[in-house]
Amino acid sequence: MKITYIGHSGFYVELEEALLLFDYYKGSMPKLPHEKRLYVFASHRHPDHFNPEIFSLAKEKEDTFFLLSGDIWKCRVPKELQKQALHLKPNEKHSLGNITVQTLKSTDEGIAFLVQCEGKVVYHAGDLNDWRWIGEPENWNQRMAENYRNYIEPLRNMHIDAAFIPLDPRQEDYYALGMDYFLSLNAEKKEEDRIYPMHCWEDYHVIDRWLKEHPDHPDRDKIVRIQGRGESFKQ
Ligand SMILES: [Zn+2]
Repeated sequence: MKITYIGHSGFYVELEEALLLFDYYKGSMPKLPHEKRLYVFASHRHPDHFNPEIFSLAKEKEDTFFLLSGDIWKCRVPKELQKQALHLKPNEKHSLGNITVQTLKSTDEGIAFLVQCEGKVVYHAGDLNDWRWIGEPENWNQRMAENYRNYIEPLRNMHIDAAFIPLDPRQEDYYALGMDYFLSLNAEKKEEDRIYPMHCWEDYHVIDRWLKEHPDHPDRDKIVRIQGRGESFKQ
């Protein structure tokens, strides 16, 4: 499996037979191999997660399939592609082509995706995160934490090969709450599993900060130190 960081929460996953693209909003795409089928995911309609430009990928690859959060309305999908688009709600499961996708409810808008394909499990959180903010009322922050823990519960003890998890420097000292809790859900990981921090607003120091502040964390060597758009990782 080869994973390319496109930008922000955008990742492109190349498998033997399938291509998965998550939350593209800008950045350059690698050349798409002819013989593989493309599945395009968008976790919600916010402009840093969804750009209607994704539909132009179907010009290059006609059988592209779009898996869109239900808050991205049908009218946003070009008419000729509506048959190739699914609008997903939280907590649904679908199999199509050679993938199975399960959705989780987000603490922001939309959904998170758990995708199984060719024996690999890939999790893209979208904006499902513990969005605690300095200055929000404590009961708001408390409810956020509870919701996050409930919504992400289906992932407990689940083996995930590649996980894309928000690590957002705007949350200041609370930047790692969501990722730390995610990591605690399935303590035992395989040697080759990887965690890709995302939603960093191009400030990758936040990844170094996490590594510095977690010197003895058992999953330290699973964290991918992304440094810029277009980087690829094999796993
Ligand atoms: Zn976002």
